[in-house]
Amino acid sequence: MSCRRFFSIPVLSVILVMGLVYYVTLFVFIDDWVGLRSSAGKLNALIFTSLASLCIFSLSICVLLDPGRVPSSYAPDVENSSWSGSNNGTEARKCDTCFAYKPLRTHHCRVCRRCVLKMDHHCVWINNCVGYANYKAFFLLVFYATVACIHSTVLLVCCVFKNGESYAGNVPLKTFMVSCGVFMIGLSITLGTLLGWHIYLIAHNMTTIEHYNSKRALWLARKSGQSYRHQFDLGVYKNITSVLGSNIIKWLCPTFTRNTEDGINFSASRDS
Ligand SMILES: [Zn+2]
Ligand SMILES: [Zn+2]
Repeated sequence: MSCRRFFSIPVLSVILVMGLVYYVTLFVFIDDWVGLRSSAGKLNALIFTSLASLCIFSLSICVLLDPGRVPSSYAPDVENSSWSGSNNGTEARKCDTCFAYKPLRTHHCRVCRRCVLKMDHHCVWINNCVGYANYKAFFLLVFYATVACIHSTVLLVCCVFKNGESYAGNVPLKTFMVSCGVFMIGLSITLGTLLGWHIYLIAHNMTTIEHYNSKRALWLARKSGQSYRHQFDLGVYKNITSVLGSNIIKWLCPTFTRNTEDGINFSASRDS
């Protein structure tokens, strides 16, 4: 774990935006709508505080947790069906920069300057790679942030509907509320799109890198009239459990859930 990763402008910006959204939601949207001391105000404040806490918790895990390091003792098992079935061959799975063997789904990150297990992408907003160990926390960060943004937007709309007439003569307040509305709707759409994209990837057991790498295979399969199925696609339920864990109760808990896969060996669709 490295706390130094927090000290980057994008990570600090994310924390600042979270803090601003939290403050405005509680002390402007909810307070101006029903008042923070009313039961409806207390309930909404409690829900929003829970969502904000889960966002901060998920963000901390994303930033602090190592996404997955290739063990120094790692050597490929060439008898393994995943290897023998790979189009890349054994040579292709050696990292050109680290000069070490890398397991299937592992990629070299030029920013982190090392190989990362089941690498999805390098994310500047968490100043870390998104990989095998922190992908669940990253997905839940996007999930909770999307839900929190939509909740905040709904509260903003409720506030405007109740106090719309009083804002009419107050240009600075009206401008502030319109700016908040544009920002919150834009953020909700951006995060919602990102969430939808990662739900799609999880449902197909793909990483972002694998999705882009599979485009050519998909094109070739379609050209020859065949259907294409991703190598690690085990069916929607198994794909979900491989990321969120086999215990459904822990699906929404951002802590890493160890499952049958170890980040090095993965079940391929033809093995199931
Ligand atoms: Zn490498
Ligand atoms: Zn990286």
